[in-house]
Amino acid sequence: MTRVLLTGKRGSGFIATHVLETLLARGHSVVTTVRSQQKAQAILDAHPQLSKDRLDCAIVENMARVDGRGSLSITYAFLKLTIDLAFDDAVVSELPFEAVIHTASPYHFHAKDAKELLEPAIIGTTGILKSVQKHAPSVKCVVVTSSFAAINNIYAKAKGKVYSEADWCPITEAQANDNPANAYRASKTFAERAAWDFIKNENPSFNLTVINPPLVLGPVAHNLASLSSLNTSNERIRDLITGAAKERCPPTGNYLYVDVRDLALAHVLAIEKPEAGGKRFFTVSSHFSNKEIAEIIGQEFPQFKDRLPSGEALIPGDYPVDGVYGFDNSRAREILGVPFRPLKESVVDAVHSLLAFDPKIGIQ
Ligand code: NAP
Repeated sequence: MTRVLLTGKRGSGFIATHVLETLLARGHSVVTTVRSQQKAQAILDAHPQLSKDRLDCAIVENMARVDGRGSLSITYAFLKLTIDLAFDDAVVSELPFEAVIHTASPYHFHAKDAKELLEPAIIGTTGILKSVQKHAPSVKCVVVTSSFAAINNIYAKAKGKVYSEADWCPITEAQANDNPANAYRASKTFAERAAWDFIKNENPSFNLTVINPPLVLGPVAHNLASLSSLNTSNERIRDLITGAAKERCPPTGNYLYVDVRDLALAHVLAIEKPEAGGKRFFTVSSHFSNKEIAEIIGQEFPQFKDRLPSGEALIPGDYPVDGVYGFDNSRAREILGVPFRPLKESVVDAVHSLLAFDPKIGIQ
């Protein structure tokens, strides 16, 4: 059993919810950060059989809190700041932590200013590393959720390129402000670079492991406030089954996916396997397109057939005619041993989870 601090379950964290369930199922003891006492109570109420030693919550209202001291730059120069950080209290526990899994970071494509994403991503990541170094000497490993966004070079030709952990997104601070998608790419790239720089410069007593997932699909395990508050990566499935995408299949965007349950397992294996320390893991299941998702839904859920795009309306969701990049997930398969599941299972289970939330979606 490992004593773990988990972030990103503050409200509706899609990935963190699965990481929490995987940690508990594998016998670990978890404190998860939440924004309010009310949310803490909801998590504890959902697991009435567990003692406080197995599952507890710590309140972290805003991980980008810096208590107004220090001057902020939007780059990973945040590292140089000496400030009181939001996680200083959360990393301290009566039963000391041995591992930290940091998934929290804003993930959406509607930022008006890149800083909305850059600040929580960079301050949150560097902040938790600093807090662990200062206040939690028992921690042996920190796992950070980065992204394919920190690997993918959107400015390069896709055809013929095989992405792996060796690649880095070359985005610049100036390009971060070009559009909301670039703001997200920059937030993940700069936050991850800041984490590795921290390890290089500070040589702390813990290891860093970084998980780089592409698009994450699969069942929604947490209580949704509404379908409109669904996590970003599952929005395409919601839009297909509600008919919102009937006239035009959404463009696929990036052509690699992973199932959220396999990704959660990868995070937990990263704390269980010492050989994962000091490495990035490109956790990819396979290629996919939104056209394929629409076809799976049409085959498996006939009640949605009339709502799905067909013919020309499917074309925007197809693979580009000039080809897509390849991927190398051998490190995740060989060191972590993650068994990646097929697209059909991720899509079918995601649709079932949305139907469980709102059975009326299926009624014509
Ligand atoms: P999500 O459901 O939106 O969860 C994001 C979590 O971060 C939420 O719990 C959110 O809390 C928390 N958060 C955001 N800003 C915060 C702040 N200032 N202080 C404290 N907590 C904050 O997204 P997700 O899909 O689970 O993503 C989790 C991680 O995976 C992120 O690092 C994301 O970049 C990465 N990722 C996701 C995908 C994907 O396809 N889903 C792909 C690659 C990487 P609230 O709910 O209270 O706002």
